[in-house]
Amino acid sequence: MPTPLYAASPSRLLAYLECPRRYRFQYLDRPRPTSRPQRAHTSVGLATHNALRDWWDLPRGERTASGGAALLRKAWIETGFRDDDQSGRWRSRVGGEVEAYLGDVDPDDQPRGIERTVAMRTDSLVLNGRVDRIDERPGVDGPELVIVDYKTSRRTCTEEDARTSLPLALYAAAAWTMFRRRTLRVELHHVPTGTVAAHTHTVESLRRKLDEADSLARDARKADASYRELGVESPSFPPLPSALCTWCDYRAACPEGQRMGPEKSSWAALEPGDERRTDGERYPEEELLEGTVRLGGRAGQPEGWGREDDLGGEPGGSVRRAG
Ligand code: SF4
Repeated sequence: MPTPLYAASPSRLLAYLECPRRYRFQYLDRPRPTSRPQRAHTSVGLATHNALRDWWDLPRGERTASGGAALLRKAWIETGFRDDDQSGRWRSRVGGEVEAYLGDVDPDDQPRGIERTVAMRTDSLVLNGRVDRIDERPGVDGPELVIVDYKTSRRTCTEEDARTSLPLALYAAAAWTMFRRRTLRVELHHVPTGTVAAHTHTVESLRRKLDEADSLARDARKADASYRELGVESPSFPPLPSALCTWCDYRAACPEGQRMGPEKSSWAALEPGDERRTDGERYPEEELLEGTVRLGGRAGQPEGWGREDDLGGEPGGSVRRAG
């Protein structure tokens, strides 16, 4: 039998890294423990992403900054706010932010992809995820792709954030694989301030990120196997209490996390001083392929998924490590 590969989005890999217990709650336990209702900052993130996505579908004459603000107002989600007044103030505020951000976006420069699903396989992992925007821009030796990720938290992004982001690097490798076009630059577009934090990877740095993802996938795959054998008695899912526990959607099922302090309110991330967790999940994980899968031969391999030799075009070899 071919070796089972582990299929995951970057979110799933990071969930296992951050807290194996939360990973178990979210991805393995069925029925899944009840998670808390959506928070206001997640509503802000969803509405912003939806407006920025739909802006590219507007007729060219309506693809204006004010047209984007109108989309935001239409896409607004009331869930999680303290009251109507708070929701209304944030709707107006975020509409202004979207309008200012789009004022610097060329409406004729159609991206190569918008909320595009990308996927690739490595030694241990079938990686799949969705990229907010993939731009095509002139490079030294021809057009190159750029991974763009929208951020809506109150905290501005730094170049260090872009450099160290595992999801951005994995998306770059996957986009390179699928489009067969060099993809080294990753950008965090902070919509509230209109600032861009960017990093240009090297083939080596992408390779290191892929190795990191492979290592995480191997650990998570082993943990999944242990869960299949032992269920909730498996020792592979210890709680990792931290400051994140005050935000955790599953803390009601986790006594260790509850001891880390009182739960944050639904709107806490919108308030000054509580800015660290304001991006939230944007895409339902169920839409992406998850878990352990077998990809022996060609069966079940969607068109466009790359193998290691699909990452060619770079002198010195492919992004995947040989051997
Ligand atoms: S409350 Fe904390 S320890 Fe418990 S599952 Fe959530 S993140 Fe993990």
